[in-house]
Amino acid sequence: MLIADRAVALFHYTLTDPAGAVIDASPAGQPLAYLHGAGNIVPGLEQAMQGRSAGDRFDVIVSPEQGYGERDPGLVQVVPRAAFQGVDSIEPGMQFQAQGGHGPMLVTVAAVDADSVTVDGNHPLAGVPLHFAVEIAQVREATAEELAHGHVHGAGGHHH
Ligand code: ZN
Repeated sequence: MLIADRAVALFHYTLTDPAGAVIDASPAGQPLAYLHGAGNIVPGLEQAMQGRSAGDRFDVIVSPEQGYGERDPGLVQVVPRAAFQGVDSIEPGMQFQAQGGHGPMLVTVAAVDADSVTVDGNHPLAGVPLHFAVEIAQVREATAEELAHGHVHGAGGHHH
């Protein structure tokens, strides 16, 4: 069976940055499952999956536009240290839930000084070309329930 809309694919992957550092990988023996055509994975990877079948191995480089987007300098803000009441120590790399113009957003602490904290609301992988090494483990048809929910149930997917 080929990967197409309404198919569920399970795949092993290793994601590296342009310097070759591993950013993320599926755990050994536990492929990730996604529903093709539902936007469960970044667009560039989803496109590269189209038409593949179990056993296929391939590498794809996904541009930021087809990945987590370009970096938006407007999402970097300096906020008063006092905005972090109740947080004992703030260090670069920490992530917080913040209230953005379009609802809650995840921000990453970029810098800290005595009075202020620089936070970055960009996705940590925004602006980064993504190199995926992929091996397709299984392709099957989605169930009616999975199609209704827009995601995969069971192994490698949602449990609820
Ligand atoms: Zn569900």
